[in-house]
Amino acid sequence: MQNLRVRFAPSPTGALHIGGVRTALYNYLLAKKMGGTFILRIEDTDQARYVPGAEDYIIEALRWFGIMPEEGPGIGGDYGPYRQSERKSMYGKYAQQLLDAGRAYYAFDSAEELQAQRSAFEARKEVFKYDNNTRSSMNNSLTLSADEVKSRIERGDDYTVRLKIPKDETLRINDLVRGEVNFQSNELDDKIILKSDGMPTYHLANIVDDHYMKISHVIRGEEWLPSTAHHVYLYRFLEWEDTMPEFAHLPLILKPTGKGKLGKRDGNKFGIPVFPLSWKGETEEDSFTGFREFGFDPKAVLNFLAFLGWNPGTEQEVFTLDELIKAFSVEKIGKSGARFDFDKAKWFNQQYIIASSNEDLAEVVRPLVKEKGYEVSDEFLVAFCGLMKERVNFYTDFVETGYYFFEPIREYDAKMVRKKWKTEKRPVFETMREDLLNLDDYSGLAVETCIKSFMEKHELGFGAVLPILRLGVSGTMKGPSVFDMMSLLGKEEVNARLAKAYDAFDGAQAT
Ligand code: GLU
Repeated sequence: MQNLRVRFAPSPTGALHIGGVRTALYNYLLAKKMGGTFILRIEDTDQARYVPGAEDYIIEALRWFGIMPEEGPGIGGDYGPYRQSERKSMYGKYAQQLLDAGRAYYAFDSAEELQAQRSAFEARKEVFKYDNNTRSSMNNSLTLSADEVKSRIERGDDYTVRLKIPKDETLRINDLVRGEVNFQSNELDDKIILKSDGMPTYHLANIVDDHYMKISHVIRGEEWLPSTAHHVYLYRFLEWEDTMPEFAHLPLILKPTGKGKLGKRDGNKFGIPVFPLSWKGETEEDSFTGFREFGFDPKAVLNFLAFLGWNPGTEQEVFTLDELIKAFSVEKIGKSGARFDFDKAKWFNQQYIIASSNEDLAEVVRPLVKEKGYEVSDEFLVAFCGLMKERVNFYTDFVETGYYFFEPIREYDAKMVRKKWKTEKRPVFETMREDLLNLDDYSGLAVETCIKSFMEKHELGFGAVLPILRLGVSGTMKGPSVFDMMSLLGKEEVNARLAKAYDAFDGAQAT
């Protein structure tokens, strides 16, 4: 078998949607599994939709996920250039070849003429399609005389080149996910393959490039399935059908509600990320928070994405990238749409955080801590991560929910304070503070022993003492083991916090 070569071929029209990352991932997994090559090709033939920064975004996202292509723009490879705009000169001759073979034709219809047709069809509640039915009533090289066509071209009239889809054929395509898919040629439109500006459309460029880049498998979103019929005709007419790649169309990613396709606006609507990295668009509406900035681990996102449309057929859910490579197979890709279940993404992230070493977590959390302007030692940070890791969903939670490890308590849980604090008990709690201050060893265990003997001495239960300690050192009832927390904060800090808290509790009690 020829070498397996797959490509991820995004168009740089804005931030890369998370569905695009899933496509890249499946391509990557297959390439790695089969010892093949994963290629990045930038499909930027549509100049009108080109968005500066989008290509950098794509590469940065792939790098963040650690699924870098082996060939691509800025990476190199034997089949470059990998940006279609730099391959411009390659496509025209194939349009010409198709014209010469009678498989394509010139179309001179102006935008107004096309619009007039559309309106006329609409009036009859029909949809206009430029196809083997309507082409005979349009201005093209099939209806105009050869001389007329020649003179129009010579005088520089605008034209496009359209693919001439044959009449009355059934086209059978074998899709690795969907099995045999049939298309009736009469239902296919005569797609434009060369635009009036001389640029190829996606369809032509995609086929020429896949051929030249020796792509063996095309793995892409289901939305491209209808175009595949045109693509197969292009392969056939260019006489490349014997080396045509295999196709695998991935199921749709559905909205969190399970209804309809996940769109880029759904992120802002549901308050969840649907892009890998944050993106600052022209407008507020066009700006999004990414999975990265939301506090996700890229490995967890990949694990989550792998399961959006694929399933190993076992109970295992948490996979490293290497395990995914081993387990992945195109046969196990599903046909039905996969719901974008954000809670599941969150769950994967928690699993990764819990499984990470405290040292590795500290590496990730350090920049977040710095960003907030906190100064702490490495030792402190590592211990802090250890205490917090079972209590967070996202990396950002470390500094947000655990802020009190770095700065004074912002507020005390008023309801709990009212419930647990009694001003007349303050003298007893002052002795607890003193007992703690007298400790030499301030390990979690020593603190715990000290508190327990205080409780015994004053005949107080856990329910009377622990909430006071917890509220006093962190302000909240949620958080890691109170003794370990105290140990990490240190004797002086705890002492100061308790003193301050008692005053605040008294104040709250008085109101
Ligand atoms: N440029 C297309 C896109 O933006 C690529 C589709 C394909 O993989 O053929 O999704």
